[in-house]
Amino acid sequence: MQGIESKAKGALAGIAIGDALGATLEFMTRDEILHKYGIHKEIIGGGYWQLAPGEVTDDTDMTIAVAKGIIAKPNNPLDQIAHYFTEWVNTEPKDIGNICRLVLTEGIKRGIKKEEDWLEIAEYAHKLSGGRSGGNGSLMRTIPVVLAYFSDKEKMFEIAYRQSALTHYDHLVGKCVISYCDIVRDILLGGNIKDVILKNIKNSPFKLDINLALGHINTSGYVAHTLEAALNCAYQTESFEQALLMAVNLGGDTDTIGAVTGGIAGASYGLENIPLRWLDKLIIKNEILFLADQLLSINSKH
Ligand SMILES: [Mg+2]
Repeated sequence: MQGIESKAKGALAGIAIGDALGATLEFMTRDEILHKYGIHKEIIGGGYWQLAPGEVTDDTDMTIAVAKGIIAKPNNPLDQIAHYFTEWVNTEPKDIGNICRLVLTEGIKRGIKKEEDWLEIAEYAHKLSGGRSGGNGSLMRTIPVVLAYFSDKEKMFEIAYRQSALTHYDHLVGKCVISYCDIVRDILLGGNIKDVILKNIKNSPFKLDINLALGHINTSGYVAHTLEAALNCAYQTESFEQALLMAVNLGGDTDTIGAVTGGIAGASYGLENIPLRWLDKLIIKNEILFLADQLLSINSKH
């Protein structure tokens, strides 16, 4: 397998691996991880969520929901994406971010079906949470948009922003999502990972530092922190494995930092450079590889 197919599959598998590897460590500090594991290197499950080895969390589950929504209705997938979010919430997932929980449970209660009604609930949740809807919950799920629409950059940006706004009212979140999609698209189309990141942050509306020392990388769930953490991990390393190990061992919101880093690194290094000991451990491996193929084929159709 070569080229864009390998990169697309690498990106989706990267999210799931970062999620499965990082979820074991969620809520631990970098020092606690060091004390317990040295460097955490294997997908073993457990952790706060008591996961099975290879089990993923909301980062991957919501990514799959976005993918299914796009595949169901490529021209205007927003209602479908929201539908798959609610279907997932009804499975009572272990891990779900605060804003996504607020928005989606309220939407289910009200029987919401349309994008414009979701936007209203997202604003309601933003206010209810005291203006704190700046989390990374829509950043972590956005890669399917890149895979399906990379051949039409404006459409990609539009769908990326709109899928984010379904749950996250804070406009900064949408801007970070667009920045991330721009980076992954350029890498998918053959750009060098370091050149692409450098170019993007030079033109970025945010001040992001990609040369942070480990102890200075902020690992909160705030969207700009997660984007910055992932860019540091992707920029400061030389392989998929190194990038992911750096990401999850930072501590804090480890599964999402792992997932967002995995999307970039997987697109850059491709599926064949992902360690098999990680890839083969994923319970949903076949499903995500199949989804990558379906998403890629949308580029020629819409
Ligand atoms: Mg998670």
